[in-house]
Amino acid sequence: MILSQPDESGIRRAAEFIRSGGLVSFPTETVYGLGADSMNPMAVARIFEVKGRPFFDPLIVHVSNIGMASGLVDGFPDKARLLAERFWPGPLTIVLPKSGIVPDIVTAGLPTVAIRIPDHRVALDLIDFSGVPIAAPSANPFGYLSPTKAEHVMVQLGGRIDMILDGGACRVGVESTVLKIQGDSVTLLRPGGLEMEEIMDLIGPVESGAGPDVESPGQLPYHYSPDSPVRIVEAIDEEDLEIKNAGFLFFKKPCFPYPPESAEILSDDGDLLVAASRLFSCLHRLDKSGKKIILAEAVPEKGLGLAIMDRLIKASKKVRNETE
Ligand code: AMP
Ligand code: MG
Repeated sequence: MILSQPDESGIRRAAEFIRSGGLVSFPTETVYGLGADSMNPMAVARIFEVKGRPFFDPLIVHVSNIGMASGLVDGFPDKARLLAERFWPGPLTIVLPKSGIVPDIVTAGLPTVAIRIPDHRVALDLIDFSGVPIAAPSANPFGYLSPTKAEHVMVQLGGRIDMILDGGACRVGVESTVLKIQGDSVTLLRPGGLEMEEIMDLIGPVESGAGPDVESPGQLPYHYSPDSPVRIVEAIDEEDLEIKNAGFLFFKKPCFPYPPESAEILSDDGDLLVAASRLFSCLHRLDKSGKKIILAEAVPEKGLGLAIMDRLIKASKKVRNETE
């Protein structure tokens, strides 16, 4: 359903969808976002399902004030505060170490979270009425142009999401500038709607982290991979449980007894949406227990299964490259 020039009651209806785990496309000054409750891993998994992404990509979390941003991070360095106070709301995304409340699927397993305050009344009201930070990538199917008008979203994703809030054409029309801040050092991850000159006038030099790779999300070298080697198998059999010091990532609940302390089950009944929403947190838990190897069951390569397999294959390759 598309709502033109939404008034308060319309935005409150959209906020109800967000609160109940639904997806709402909303206007920002950069491009239209495809938003979900960032605190709800299943709702976030649905974003990837609807976008048809073959991989997971860390999402920007949209907040309406600096206090809300502070709750998502583990410390707010001085330079981040200066930038936020000057340029928020605006087309600047700041990547900071995340706090424990941010689900792993939002950050694609990374220890950092990307945050911004969008400069659009409809987006800000939607966040406030929802009462939660909203995770959103651009509201386009994977590989298509980013949408700068509600019609673009309607044509591309119309039947697949709960609501589209039409706030007219996006003023900036390109994505936000993304900066990563670690203590005193600032790195440009993606050039965007806020000019670098303005940023450097305020905080001094910025390192350039932007290369061709940074433009292709999901292919980035900084994506999370576990320390323990991962081996993908068609199915984990009962005999595999004998392997010493191994962790087991089951796709579905096995029909034989298994050691719960060294196993994680992505989804009891093999639901890909549930599996996607749990993938990174299950990998984190297995990795933390310091296993020599993680056996991961292959999942069906359809829908979100493609993204899950992409991540598992990357994790398994990372280790092979290092030991070659
Ligand atoms: P989009 O939402 O499509 O505008 O893309 C968000 C951009 O922010 C992508 O380039 C992501 O790779 C980047 N991004 C989001 N979260 C992080 C993070 N935790 N660390 C580094 N980059 C991030
Ligand atoms: Mg995008």
